[in-house]
Amino acid sequence: MRIVILDGYTLNPGDLSWAELEKLGDCRMYDRTPAEQIVARAAGAQIVLTNKTPLMRETLDRLPELKYIGVLATGYNVVDMQAATERNIVVTNVPTYSTRSVAQMVFAHLLNLTLHVAEHSQGVRAGRWSSSKDFSYWDFPLIELDGLTMGIIGFGRIGRTTADVALSFGMKVLAYDPMPLQNLQPGASMATLEEVFRNSDVVSLHCPLTVETEKLVNAEHLAWMKTTAFLINISRGPIVDERALADALNAGRIAGAGIDVLSTEPPPPDHPLLIAKNCYFTPHIGWATKAARIRLLNEVIENIRAFLAGTPKNAVKR
Ligand code: NAD
Repeated sequence: MRIVILDGYTLNPGDLSWAELEKLGDCRMYDRTPAEQIVARAAGAQIVLTNKTPLMRETLDRLPELKYIGVLATGYNVVDMQAATERNIVVTNVPTYSTRSVAQMVFAHLLNLTLHVAEHSQGVRAGRWSSSKDFSYWDFPLIELDGLTMGIIGFGRIGRTTADVALSFGMKVLAYDPMPLQNLQPGASMATLEEVFRNSDVVSLHCPLTVETEKLVNAEHLAWMKTTAFLINISRGPIVDERALADALNAGRIAGAGIDVLSTEPPPPDHPLLIAKNCYFTPHIGWATKAARIRLLNEVIENIRAFLAGTPKNAVKR
């Protein structure tokens, strides 16, 4: 059984072990695979693992022995599902390995926006504290979360976990989700999309990228936000009209943004948000804590074991 990993580097840059996977077959690992080498590398494999390397129809057509695609992530839009289904190729993903890590990243951004820890540290290292007239100084408004309102768009696994943390900071939570919401935590209430934008001090995005959510955060909705409010996008870049967000930040129509995802990754150097005012970034690492990557790798291996046993697990449909 040949197993080919097309782009294993982000899952395992060297701090995890492939040993359990290697027990399942003849494994060939690649950190990254350029489009023109996919077929040559995957030729003869029954199992191919991909994170972000696309497996589209023209590629699948040239891999007649392929029986299984394991996606090393939750989103599986890198696979042409129509073509895979026609070929009876089983495609699996890993639905829930990073929920708590992603929620933690929301608060890394929110605490940065409200307290500017890294910038204060840089100022101290540059001598600002040593030359201060007082025992204490701050270069930004310091904002307490207690009593503020967190608006959460998409109240699924990550949205609800984010709400739990927000509530423990003393925040109120407004949740928007097109699905009926049951078992809302005390302190959380449902709201319309407009109410979330208008009444929140922080708007955090946790819906999937779909035709309905593409550019859901646009100039009109940004104009509904308080001028003191922050936007956090840990979900998917295209959910935000990035030009409109850059304009809103530069004009001071909102107070700041925390961004883990952009519509093009990696972004071009002239991306408008990279120079927007009060915009802070992490490079799509919400999912990437070591604990989450260990869970991801274990689940990838479980998915292959289940497939080999004839009882596929986490198989995704078109
Ligand atoms: P989930 O499926 O548990 O929750 C998504 C929620 O969004 C659901 O409740 C769904 O009803 C809701 N939703 C669907 N359409 C909507 C719409 N039009 N408007 C508002 N809400 C809508 O998913 P999850 O595990 O909570 O993950 C949410 C998203 O987080 C993922 O789709 C992914 O894009 C993103 N994510 C990012 C990272 C990262 O590293 N930054 C890691 C994992 C997931």
